[in-house]
Amino acid sequence: MVENNDDFGYGSVDEVQRQTSSGGKYLKLEYDKTVQVRVTDKPKYAIRHWNDVQRKFFPHNEPKCEFCGEGVKTPLKKDAQWYWIVIDREDERVKILQGPNGVARALKDLSELRDKTKTLVWGNPITFDVMITKYKKDNGFTDYKVEPLPNTKRSMNDEEVKKIKEAAIDLVKEVEKSKTSEHMGNYGGSPSMETAPADERVNPEDIPANLGEGGGETVGPDDIPF
Ligand SMILES: [Zn+2]
Repeated sequence: MVENNDDFGYGSVDEVQRQTSSGGKYLKLEYDKTVQVRVTDKPKYAIRHWNDVQRKFFPHNEPKCEFCGEGVKTPLKKDAQWYWIVIDREDERVKILQGPNGVARALKDLSELRDKTKTLVWGNPITFDVMITKYKKDNGFTDYKVEPLPNTKRSMNDEEVKKIKEAAIDLVKEVEKSKTSEHMGNYGGSPSMETAPADERVNPEDIPANLGEGGGETVGPDDIPF
């Protein structure tokens, strides 16, 4: 092995970390980091509550919700978590992307955009790649930029379709799992609710995929720590 005098022996840390981080199954949106993905299917979502005092998620249950239903003195705020099966162009692997309403809204708007002749400009979001960037606005709130990539406008090829099939991700099951799993946030009646990070100075690598989603008292529904 060739010694690189500049890396002090840590030259492979990035690569090793990449290979070992969270099994690579989840693609997390991080501040000021742009991801390029191909959405491969229809999205799924779940609605949950964030208790800012306990810093925990709680399930939103229809029709009688113990956290926001009739007769609840101090109803908890609700937020939604969306799930997509995507191909991450970084490494061309099939992953689960999670995002708030803002990302879903941007994809919906793109899919519905029509030109002056009423022709859909982009159409179905599974027919082009998007770049998604999570960033802080000047007012401190979090927002998401979702940009379509014109030169990627094509149906998925055979290799991609095969890859998705082989990944065999059951998104419905994943969303269900997220209700009880310690690794994907927590709503759906699990007695052991997760605790969200107290602030954003937490190593993202230490945080389960969507832990920390949820608005507090002073933030908008889309202004979430992770
Ligand atoms: Zn509720």
